[in-house]
Amino acid sequence: MSAKILQGKEFATIIKENARKKVLELKEKYGTAPGLAVIIVGNNPASEVYVRNKHKSCEELGIYSEVVSMPENTSKDELLNKIDELNDAKNIHGILVQLPLPESISKHESEILNRINPKKDVDGFHPTNVGKLSIGEDALVPCTPAGCVKMLELSNIDIEGKNAVIIGRSNIVGKPMFNLLLKKNATVTVCHSKTKNLADITKQADILVAAIGKPKFVTADMVKEGAVIIDVGINRIAPKKLVGDVDFDEVKEKVGAITPVPGGVGLLTVAMLMENVVKAMEMQMKSED
Ligand code: NDP
Repeated sequence: MSAKILQGKEFATIIKENARKKVLELKEKYGTAPGLAVIIVGNNPASEVYVRNKHKSCEELGIYSEVVSMPENTSKDELLNKIDELNDAKNIHGILVQLPLPESISKHESEILNRINPKKDVDGFHPTNVGKLSIGEDALVPCTPAGCVKMLELSNIDIEGKNAVIIGRSNIVGKPMFNLLLKKNATVTVCHSKTKNLADITKQADILVAAIGKPKFVTADMVKEGAVIIDVGINRIAPKKLVGDVDFDEVKEKVGAITPVPGGVGLLTVAMLMENVVKAMEMQMKSED
């Protein structure tokens, strides 16, 4: 049996095209484009690449984009002041602080992220958005898990009534993934490092999401035949070699569909950020109407 390979690019293109249309509608209706501000503190090279990609995607879609670069030695208060300023800025509808923060202020990460107005919290990390998602209200949702669910929907993969198993319980991926799949009426199990007999659980999964951060951790003997495998992991095993949390070559022979790494889920994250910026503006405008 040969698995369907779920190519991230294909889905990212659909999501971005949809966002582009909505940007035009918003411009027409309100005379202004959605705006995203990305704050980057320090010179982490990987973060600089991510921020550049976000800026580029905004430009492609007609979203106003502001990159706020702050020096490595920025204090917590300086950063909070900048967030306050952007919270008040009428042309900015989405704000995100690129992580990781420099070591000197990383212990204040929660306080810093929680300062972002929840209506502009396009990363979906603010407790208000986390809470809304968990009680099933409309919220800004973290981009990576939202992208995974979108990909399942765009692939016409049924979620309702399915056994979904998530390996990983982080606030960024595992936990929001749980809430999103539950909302779609899956029966969801969340596993983590203390889970006993992991393979017994993963073998029950119709949909298996791996968000662990360990290269090729999920092997063929851990998956059910015909299952759908979503690999969120990004692990650099050599300077130019990325692999996922799933042993792709082995597992693809047994399952029904699988995301590759690179080229899978990773490509959806920025596309979903664009969708979130549009959604943030729509929500803000609706509450002002
Ligand atoms: P975290 O390190 O925050 O969480 C990892 C989770 O895996 C934890 O819940 C941990 O359990 C669990 N885990 C670790 N070891 C085991 C084990 N042996 N058995 C079962 N569970 C285990 O990672 P993230 O959620 O932030 O990221 C996960 C992966 O996804 C990483 O590779 C990251 O690079 C990637 N990622 C990709 C994104 C994208 O855009 N595609 C975006 C975000 C992340 P415990 O809680 O008990 O410690």
